[in-house]
Amino acid sequence: MSKICINIAWPYANGAIHLGHVAGSLLPPDIFGRYNRLKGNEVLVVGGSDQHGTPITVTAEKEGSTPAAVADRYHAINKKAIEDLDIQYSLFSKTHGDNHIEVVQDIFMDLLKKGYLYEKKTDQYYCPKCRKFLPDRYVEGICPKCGAKDVRSDQCDWCGTTFEPGDLLSARCIHCSSDPDVRPTNHFFLKLTAFTEQLVSFVDSKDHWRSNVKTFTENWLKDGLVDRAITRDMSWGVPVPLPGWEEKAIYVWFEAVMGYLSTSIEYSKMIGKPELWEEYWKGPDTKHYYFIGKDNIPFHSIIWPAILMGVGGLNLPYDIPANEYLMFRGGKLSKSRGGAIDIPSVLSKYDVDAVRYYLSVNMPDTHDADFTWEDFRIKVNNELV
Ligand SMILES: [Zn+2]
Ligand SMILES: [Zn+2]
Repeated sequence: MSKICINIAWPYANGAIHLGHVAGSLLPPDIFGRYNRLKGNEVLVVGGSDQHGTPITVTAEKEGSTPAAVADRYHAINKKAIEDLDIQYSLFSKTHGDNHIEVVQDIFMDLLKKGYLYEKKTDQYYCPKCRKFLPDRYVEGICPKCGAKDVRSDQCDWCGTTFEPGDLLSARCIHCSSDPDVRPTNHFFLKLTAFTEQLVSFVDSKDHWRSNVKTFTENWLKDGLVDRAITRDMSWGVPVPLPGWEEKAIYVWFEAVMGYLSTSIEYSKMIGKPELWEEYWKGPDTKHYYFIGKDNIPFHSIIWPAILMGVGGLNLPYDIPANEYLMFRGGKLSKSRGGAIDIPSVLSKYDVDAVRYYLSVNMPDTHDADFTWEDFRIKVNNELV
């Protein structure tokens, strides 16, 4: 008997999960978990709602609500959707909770003491009228490359160009429409470059990885790692645990991946075996699997392993089976493409086993798969029934 830790990608709490999430990263780990339990293995399944970041604060401002209210509303909707889908988690947690915040702050202080975090000044948009720094989504303007209007200040969705503060033409604050300045601000950076050699040999030994995951990761390493800012000027997020940093939060990409560990700890406390997580995260015979969509590969194959190496003594990923996309009439399934594919709507019309069956036989595990309601009807009626 061996121990298996199944880590599931965290749905973002700014909308209801849809069929693309289920086929991409929720149903595969559930099937894998059931298989391992039947074999007699001990299985821990962790994940939850990713609740920080600017899309949630933008939604809250549009609604005249608070980020916490938006994030907790979608957490509740998605927790219920996952239960209705019969996806078996040990615990489906969330990032805006005391346990997660404590674990993230402990890791932050540990990495800081070890010299893997350092402070650096960077330029950032600042609105003199609103008197605050403006994260990427709070500044819009014209793309200097393709001329598209109303593009975000970090990247143009039309031509893919990424921007530094100051690049955007006719930049304006989305709150008050006035011209922002560019001012220096202090941030913490993760010294990702310190882990290059360790990461190269970690990836090198992974001959069992899917070729898309391995190739993507090797290319990132070949291009050379760069140190990345792990804090930003906003109040919604995990607070930086240092005096004088009250107006900054830890960046969501850096803390959400720590949710796998924090949820394992939270689950152990919840069931009255507070040491249990150590068997999974420190035991030499435990294998860690990460079920994610392909857009999440570098965060699980490079950044999270680097954080784990920095902390030390914790198990690294054994496998990262990233799925491709489920496509809907030629386009990627996403929230903006219509409500009919969100799970609460789908399960109000169809039986859960029909949905699970069709997504299992039409899973985008090696290439993008097409979803149509006509094919769903044919496969369920001709095969499952
Ligand atoms: Zn403003
Ligand atoms: Zn552009």
